[in-house]
Amino acid sequence: MFLELDFDALHARVQEHESNLLDGRVLKHALLEQLGRATAILAERGITPKLAVIQVGDDPASSIYVRNKMRACARIGIDSLEHRFPADTSAQTLHACLHALNQDESVHGVLLQLPLPAHLDPSQAILLIDPDKDVDGYHPDNLGRLMAWRGTLEPCTPRGIMTLLHAYRVPLQGTRAVVVGRSMTVGRPMAQMLMRANATVTTCHRHTRALHEHIAAAQLVVVAVGVPELIKGEWLAPGSVVVDVGITRLEDGSLSGDVEFEAARQRASLITPVPGGVGQLTVATLMENTVRVACKANHIHIDLAALGN
Ligand code: NAD
Repeated sequence: MFLELDFDALHARVQEHESNLLDGRVLKHALLEQLGRATAILAERGITPKLAVIQVGDDPASSIYVRNKMRACARIGIDSLEHRFPADTSAQTLHACLHALNQDESVHGVLLQLPLPAHLDPSQAILLIDPDKDVDGYHPDNLGRLMAWRGTLEPCTPRGIMTLLHAYRVPLQGTRAVVVGRSMTVGRPMAQMLMRANATVTTCHRHTRALHEHIAAAQLVVVAVGVPELIKGEWLAPGSVVVDVGITRLEDGSLSGDVEFEAARQRASLITPVPGGVGQLTVATLMENTVRVACKANHIHIDLAALGN
């Protein structure tokens, strides 16, 4: 709605790189190019999408994520605005900032970088973001719309995974899909999106017994847990498609996913690497959501496939 991607073009781009990797980097570049075309169309009408990012405290990982988001904005013609508050900021100050951004008509997207310092309640703050500007898709209104299959703004990581699966033309209808992890930001919305795409979905979590049996029965496995190499390659059904959302920094400084990558790669027909897979698409999907809000706010519908090359 309001912004439709050109999936044939995305598919053509990922096909140029043959291997059994679901390559997030290649898709990210193709997706950002398409979004750049959309912002150029908006610019012709005098509209510049604008994203406001709020960071409280100086968590180093959050600072890197915020910087990456600002860079992506600059790359495709989205204005960005950073509000940085000290770690001891009061709830009142944070809430006043959210309120002001809701009121500011020049701002299309409002993003509150998580986690917040312990004295601030993230659920309470998210509730204060205007659902029409909630580009992270975490407001209960937007999560409810997702559940009703009427979502406009959906959480970026699972939405990016759907873009990845569609771009690679992974069949979903009737597919036995297993989602491991049930967080509000990844696992739960992921299961909803796959169900909406007519997959038969099982959700596993920390209380699931015999996890390996669920994995062995799956044609598509999406893992978002945060436990390095929890999923063993030998558990996977031959030919299955594996999406690894997990990303953990190990003591030696390297990054690990939730799937035993090398062993899994021998069995899977397609698999995301870590890094270079899902993480690449989260920021690009945030850009997509921001452009979508700008389109909606100005009653403009952009169908990138209809525009052609
Ligand atoms: P979370 O901690 O909120 O949730 C983890 C989930 O895993 C829970 O639902 C829990 O029940 C389940 N779980 C824990 N141990 C388990 C076990 N042994 N077996 C089965 N299930 C188990 O995590 P999250 O925010 O969803 O993030 C998960 C991972 O994904 C983390 O590594 C995080 O860094 C990563 N992540 C990556 C991106 C990205 O853009 N690449 C985005 C979000 C999260």
